[in-house]
Amino acid sequence: MPEISKPYRILVAAFEHEANRLNPRLADEEIFAVERGQDILKAPAGVLKGLTETLVNAGVTIEPVFSASGGAGGLVDHDFYLRMREELLDAVRRINPDAIGLELHGAMGTTETPDAEGDLLEALRHLVGLTVPIGVGLDLHGHITPRMLDNTDICIACKENPHSDFVECGQKVAELLIEQLEGRLKPVTVSARVPMILPGAGETGSGPLAEIHAKARGYAALHPSIKDISIYNVFRFTDDDEIGQVVTILSNGPSADTPSIAVDLATRFWVERERFKDDLLTVDEVFERVRRSPDERPFAIGDMGDRVAAGAPGDGTILLSAALDGYPGLRGAVPITDPVAAAQAIEAGVGAIVMLSVGAGYTPGFTPRLVTGLVEYVSDGNFIIEGPVGEGAHKTMGPTAVLRVEDRIQVLLTTKPTSAIDPAAFTSQNVVIGDLDFVVVKSGFHFVSNFAGLATPVLVNTPGVGYYRKHQFEFRKAHFWPEHDIASPEIIARQHSVGALTRV
Ligand SMILES: [Zn+2]
Repeated sequence: MPEISKPYRILVAAFEHEANRLNPRLADEEIFAVERGQDILKAPAGVLKGLTETLVNAGVTIEPVFSASGGAGGLVDHDFYLRMREELLDAVRRINPDAIGLELHGAMGTTETPDAEGDLLEALRHLVGLTVPIGVGLDLHGHITPRMLDNTDICIACKENPHSDFVECGQKVAELLIEQLEGRLKPVTVSARVPMILPGAGETGSGPLAEIHAKARGYAALHPSIKDISIYNVFRFTDDDEIGQVVTILSNGPSADTPSIAVDLATRFWVERERFKDDLLTVDEVFERVRRSPDERPFAIGDMGDRVAAGAPGDGTILLSAALDGYPGLRGAVPITDPVAAAQAIEAGVGAIVMLSVGAGYTPGFTPRLVTGLVEYVSDGNFIIEGPVGEGAHKTMGPTAVLRVEDRIQVLLTTKPTSAIDPAAFTSQNVVIGDLDFVVVKSGFHFVSNFAGLATPVLVNTPGVGYYRKHQFEFRKAHFWPEHDIASPEIIARQHSVGALTRV
């Protein structure tokens, strides 16, 4: 626990969204869950939890502003973003804090800018000057720009995918902020970028990412001045200059070693690039496996193309249709974003038999499905995540109806997109996962942890805007492997946080 010598007041806020520009449904006030003031401290989760609890335990007075959580989805409505930015800046003017601690995602694009975090942090820095430390905890799928790093003192990511260590990330931001306020830390950050995305193999627990993270931990152990090494695997649907894998190293004071370490770690991505591939099963291969493997049931099928966790709308019907048309013996549950159908089912009420066209309201090229079923459950769609990824976070699918089709497939018609990364998305709707052969989730990584012991995870290659395929999507600004032919990228180290050097 870091010791404090003065009664510091630290302003905290969370503003997070991962923006998939291919999703036509804008993220606005309706999509974001916004809490304000002390309410954000009632049941914080993730970075905000680690940040606030560590500060409180150290004796710091917290000044909570807001928590605005958008999850993943379409671009953020720029007017909404500006209103939230202004609210935060107003709070900083009013409170005049000793430091600022933030939870951000790192890939929040708006309808006007692909680098909302850079814009936000630059505005904060202009307002408070160099004497107020700014610390940020991020998702490792951030699009980390020089503007973000130049305008922060502490800018670090979680280290694990699935993200089971957001709380630890928040704790570290709090500890480093206190160390800086106490004069024991003079943060300097260097970064190195390599222009590539990871088409697959994005888990940190195995494969090339596990090796790169192990190397980073080895470097940190050898160099006591290194306080953090963050490794960012850029969100694949951001279109901006300088897209890439980014390594950042935060040291106490300038270090002669960190530039070459950052370049070495970034270079490892390039050297290993052919290993960052997925080998996904087709829809039929997945359902055949479900059919032939009763011992492994229930399965949790990650719908990669319609991944809400990667910003897709969640309105795909391909897996529903495959189960209804091709696999008459299987029982399952399928969430589908469809506010219109959900409202119709809720209006009809529990016990009613309804015929509805469901899905395909947003994603270009998707086909709606006509289903007849029994409305067996309706709710406000609220649930609390129970698994390790996001544990304790309050989530809402919006008004939700469960439609039982052919007495074997439960369709969760949700008003808001839901990634269903947690079993509670189903159990909160009276769906008994253990009675089923499969559930469909709109996630590629995080559900694996949260369904551990309850379902066998499997990923399926489906169309949609949640899964990168070479040359399928238009990139106007971004230039990266494997979308573009890049022979041999120049990987250099940049220094940031230079303001910190002139401060103490
Ligand atoms: Zn992430």
